[in-house]
Amino acid sequence: MSEHTLTVAGVTVDTRHWIGGEHVASAGTFVDVSPIDGSVLGEIARGTAAEASAAVAAARAAFPGWAATPRAERARILHAVADAVEKRIEDLSIVETHDNGALLRSHRRGVMPRVAHNFRFFADRLVGLGHDDFDTRGHTNHVSWDPAGPCVLITPWNAPLMLATWKIAPALAAGNTVILKPAEWSPLTASLFADIAAEAGLPAGVLNVVQGYGAEAGNALVSHPDVRRISFTGSVPTAKTIAAAAAANLVPASFELGGKSPLLVFADADLDLAVDLAVEQYDNAGQVCLAATRILVEETIAQEFTRRFTEKASALRQGDPRDETTDIGPNIHTRQLEKIDGFVQRALAAGARAVIGGRRGEGQYYAPTLLTDVAQDSEIVQEEVFGPVLTLQTFTDEDEAVRLANDTRFGLAATVATGDRGRAARVTDRLVAGTVWVNCFFVRDLQAPFGGSRHSGVGREGGTWSFDFYCDLKNTVTAPKGWRDHG
Ligand code: NAD
Repeated sequence: MSEHTLTVAGVTVDTRHWIGGEHVASAGTFVDVSPIDGSVLGEIARGTAAEASAAVAAARAAFPGWAATPRAERARILHAVADAVEKRIEDLSIVETHDNGALLRSHRRGVMPRVAHNFRFFADRLVGLGHDDFDTRGHTNHVSWDPAGPCVLITPWNAPLMLATWKIAPALAAGNTVILKPAEWSPLTASLFADIAAEAGLPAGVLNVVQGYGAEAGNALVSHPDVRRISFTGSVPTAKTIAAAAAANLVPASFELGGKSPLLVFADADLDLAVDLAVEQYDNAGQVCLAATRILVEETIAQEFTRRFTEKASALRQGDPRDETTDIGPNIHTRQLEKIDGFVQRALAAGARAVIGGRRGEGQYYAPTLLTDVAQDSEIVQEEVFGPVLTLQTFTDEDEAVRLANDTRFGLAATVATGDRGRAARVTDRLVAGTVWVNCFFVRDLQAPFGGSRHSGVGREGGTWSFDFYCDLKNTVTAPKGWRDHG
């Protein structure tokens, strides 16, 4: 192990920046800690404004060559990246589990295969990208998607590589170059991925990774005048800071933010299915932006729902995320744990009742919690906790269910459990959310638009919407006259 590498369960990661196809040491470092047991994983490059600037310069230098690379060739390289990721699923899974505490089995079977799929999907989508030409009084209109330039991508820690590649893949497919700044609580798979992509043939400077803190490296990147797009996934307060930086340079920015999504359970629902959907909200220790953390149950079935929920949730196994039988791992950081507990203790002090949980567990674990007797305008109902904490409220009819569901400043997702198709149609029509699931949860196709309404986000990514964001659209209008080649 050199001064610039660390080893996690036998996998070596270079923790310097990746700029212009080279590992670049930083002037400083910060310590990365595993949420599993608090052990120090190693020292990571702590990006400065000068290092961020060097990464933007590298992305700018690589842009003309990558943008001019034929679509089919870009797609071929992105498929090669996907192949390389598939060969390293085990390594990427192990590293990410140690770094952010999410379940190893989820990384192996769901998350990392999805990382590869991100590249395949946007590579294939790129090849067919187009719009039928149309006519205006004999003039031909031709719409093209031109790459915009260097894109800064800023991502959170709850699903680090999945969320990063969901932005990297379309940005690169479109012909842009990128600078990724991963979250400081989970920096490792971004660095490992940069090496994997380079070995797969991604040219130097096309993908750059700057490690470091948001207020330092992140801020320098989003404020840089040579950046042409900013895509951010993270919290609302950070989004407001980034939006101001983007506004100063008039750079288009997209924001995927937090949520306080509802699960509406009607008396006509399949109750076992509804309980399963509710218990699923503890996945990733509740650190899922889309999680339906507000359970709204029709009053007539609330008692039976709560009984079955308690039985099922109590059987969840909390523990080491490397263990195949674990259902809930640790929370990311002691600071996050304190934040979660602060929300819960204030709610209890305000009169809430813990049906289950309501306290910290051993180490960095929080007991899965369900709080009831909560007021609609209370902090615990209105604010995102980002931990394994759910609230339960009741309603008496459809109007009240919809009113409660829509009554927060967020609008990321909503889930409806009902056995009545007419009701499903009526209710989903009235919900304010970027994604609505009916009798299911977390089914997410890359073709679909993804994003949030209100404070849950600005803009949509996914499918063609990603290309709309990462490209400068151009319409070329050609006249029927003026040609010298009369043939
Ligand atoms: P965060 O806002 O604290 O940090 C996100 C990223 O922003 C990190 O990389 C951080 O270093 C960087 N950052 C912080 N300050 C910055 C600044 N001034 N300039 C530039 N970059 C800066 O969020 P988090 O705690 O890492 O993530 C959790 C949040 O992310 C939750 O609110 C969650 O709901 C949200 N999230 C949303 C989605 C979605 O798709 N809508 C997905 C996952 C997570």
